Amino acid sequence: MTRIAIYPGSFDPPTKGHEDIIRRGIQLCDRLIVAVAHHSSKNPLFSVAERLELLREIVGSEPTVDYVEITGLVAHQAREAGATVLLRGLRVAGDFEYERQMAVMNRELCPGLETVFLAPAVDQMHISSTLVREVARYGGDVSRLVHPLVAKKLSQKFA
Ligand code: ADP
Repeated sequence: MTRIAIYPGSFDPPTKGHEDIIRRGIQLCDRLIVAVAHHSSKNPLFSVAERLELLREIVGSEPTVDYVEITGLVAHQAREAGATVLLRGLRVAGDFEYERQMAVMNRELCPGLETVFLAPAVDQMHISSTLVREVARYGGDVSRLVHPLVAKKLSQKFA
């Protein structure tokens, strides 16, 4: 049986925390689909195409990883792709209640789809795309938080 996992998120921008979850995820499944959502807010910093491209470049050549845009419900996309695992990172306790609700809802929408939470590396628990955007917007150093390519794109956005 081929185990397919989907890892959905906004990735605006992709951070070292995301990269960590992707690398751990690769070990857990035969195929990993990294699925990029438009954004919960109306004004994303990077377009979906830019985020997909950044993810491809920072993860590098990994033959079992695919990158897709989320066009509807993640649960439907998971079902269409044959995914049985939905990966999420769990950073702090504050993430938990929302994630628990999402996990139950996604299983209801796609029976058999189990959400698996991965704990990030301890030195990456504090990294979020929101904070990275804010630090970069005001000229702070994001080199410990994101891949150098993402840091470069951020400085171009805020130049
Ligand atoms: P969303 O808007 O769907 O939460 P994000 O891009 O913020 O999109 O996050 C996507 C997933 O990556 C979530 O499961 C989130 O918990 C996880 N994630 C984000 N940052 C980190 C990090 N530093 N360490 C581990 N997981 C993370």
